[in-house]
This record gives sequence, C-alpha cells and structure tokens, in this order.
Amino acid sequence: NRRKQPSVDELVTGILNHDKVALSRAITLVESKSVTHLAKATEIIEKCLPHANTSIRIGITGVPGVGKSTFIEAFGKHLTGLGKKVAVLAVDPSSSISSGSILGDKTRMEDLVKDENAFIRPSASGDSLGGVARKTRETIILCEACGFDTIVIETVGVGQSETAVHSMVDFFLLLKLAGAGDELQGIKRGIIEMADAIVINKADGDNIKRAQIARTEFKRALHLYPQKASEWLPKVVTASALKYEGIDDVWQLISEFCETTKANHYFENHRKQQNRFWLLQTIEERLKHNFYNNEHVKSVLDEYLNATENSTISPFHAAQQLLDLLKF
Ligand code: GDP
Repeated sequence: NRRKQPSVDELVTGILNHDKVALSRAITLVESKSVTHLAKATEIIEKCLPHANTSIRIGITGVPGVGKSTFIEAFGKHLTGLGKKVAVLAVDPSSSISSGSILGDKTRMEDLVKDENAFIRPSASGDSLGGVARKTRETIILCEACGFDTIVIETVGVGQSETAVHSMVDFFLLLKLAGAGDELQGIKRGIIEMADAIVINKADGDNIKRAQIARTEFKRALHLYPQKASEWLPKVVTASALKYEGIDDVWQLISEFCETTKANHYFENHRKQQNRFWLLQTIEERLKHNFYNNEHVKSVLDEYLNATENSTISPFHAAQQLLDLLKF
C-alpha cells in the first residue's frame, strides 16, 4: 500500500467521527513493532482518551468448542438490534505461535462482521501475554472514542489470559457446557472466582435437562465463595447461542450489574484501580525487559548463576551486583 499514511490528526478526527477505517488504521499502529508507529499510536491514544471510558467492557472466556464465537455473534446481533455499537476484540497470546488465531476469527462471526454497528478485530500477535494485553487495552480506548458502547473481549480458557482479560473489563462472563455430573471438577477455581456470570451454553435439544442440572450445581458452588467487592452476586443462566435463546437474559443481568455497581461506585473505582494496576504492571515489565536485555547483564548473568549455584557468592549479593550494572 503506497498511499500516503494519514497523519495523527487525520486518524483522530476519523475515529471521533466514528469512521471504522480510521479506527482499523490506528489499531494497526498500536500493534506495530516500529518505534515511529508506536509514537504515533501513543499520540492518538492520548487524544482519544478524553472521549473513551464510556462503554461497558465485557470479558468472555471458555474452553475451545464451548461456543464463544457463536455466542458472541448472537449476543452482538442482539445488542446492535437494541441500537448499541459493539466492538469485539480478542486476547490470544497463542496466535503468534500457532500463526493462526483461534479467536476473533471473522469467518466464525459471519453475520456480525457484516453489521454496520459492529467491529471485529482478531487478537494482536505478540510474543508475550503482556504485550498482547497492552495492545488490547489501548485498542479498547480507540474503540470507545470511535463510538462503540459495548466492548466484548474474548479469550480462550488457557493459561493466564483470563486473568489479563479480567483486569481490563467491568464484567466477566464464563461460558460452560453441561457435563455428566462432573461440572465442578477440573475447573480452575480462580476462573470461577472471577466470573460475574456463568452461562451454561448449548442448552438445547437433548441437552436442556443436563444444562439445568449444571445450572443448579454451579449456583450451589458459587454460594461457597466469599462475597465480591462489587457486592454483586454472580448469576448462573442457561442459553443456546445456536438458537438465540437466553441471550436477552445475559444482557439483562449485565445491565443489572451496571446499575448495582454504578450505584455503589464500584464500577468507577474498579476502573481507576485497573488503570493504576496497568501503570505499575507496565513499569515492571519494562524494567524486567530492560534488565534482561542489557548487553552487560547478558554477558555475565550465567557466570553469576553458576557462582550462586556453587555457593561462591550469595544469591542476594549476586543480585545486588547485577542490578548495580544498571544503576537501579
Ligand atoms: P468456540 O471455540 O468457543 O468459539 O466455539 P464455537 O462458537 O466455534 O462453537 C463450537 C461448536 O459448537 C460449533 O459447531 C457450534 O455450531 C456449536 N455450538 C455453539 N453454540 C451452540 C449451542 O448453543 N447449541 C448447540 N447445539 N451447538 C452450539
């Protein structure tokens, strides 16, 4: 593409005029590895920031095959039908390794992708979860400035990606399937604890009864967890993404969540906390990166590791000497 690159101001104006092409181009800058692109991206984000923060940010997770894309398509269509503007982003750190994203794949959301009031962006590639998460976070700001009032962030239920997504959303939704009475086994406790709602998907055909049983079991299990800081009691519902059933219930309870947490100020405070967390997290990552990529450190690190292994120097003393190389 030999076209002249649009300027920062052109992109910002485009975004604020709700132009999806400008939005896409700005996201490409956010995702770029080039230093000049990143500098431009930072400027765009700064200018968009006063126009952001106006949406509801919803995280959706679940194992592959649970029906995330089918659900997001049904949910997204439902919301655009209500006059909302929906952006779908994904956090999938594996996409850079497998060179094929398993999330946010446009071919899996055929109807939504054609919807004028929807915007779907597959996961940014990146060599670390931290990198992918940063890009997604900045993309949220751009989408909000572009007029999207509902941001859906999809992630697959593996590794640490749920925690990263949880730390950038207001509401966290866990999709589950009804099993043969073993629903509560093999689930990572942490994920249940993060969930503001559990949706038992594929509650259709022969599966309805099992889904209802699963719902009862999850409800019972959720009672065992301590009350959340949001004072919100997590809900369990059944749905069929394929048949568009139960989708409205999910939206109802998200609206209820917003009412409750805006009234008790959790919503606003939680976002403030998330911003603080990301500032500190970014500094930590940057410091770590700079340390381990410092030529001097790289050249002597092994020596120091060997010396500590053999107890010729104490770990603390070794660490101090290595850190001194960077004048920390
Ligand atoms: P993802 O990997 O979590 O994104 O799951 P997909 O949305 O790709 O769905 C995996 C498979 O489950 C597809 O064949 C879907 O058609 C099917 N599926 C998704 N939702 C439902 C549902 O509510 N009921 C039934 N019966 N099948 C579903």
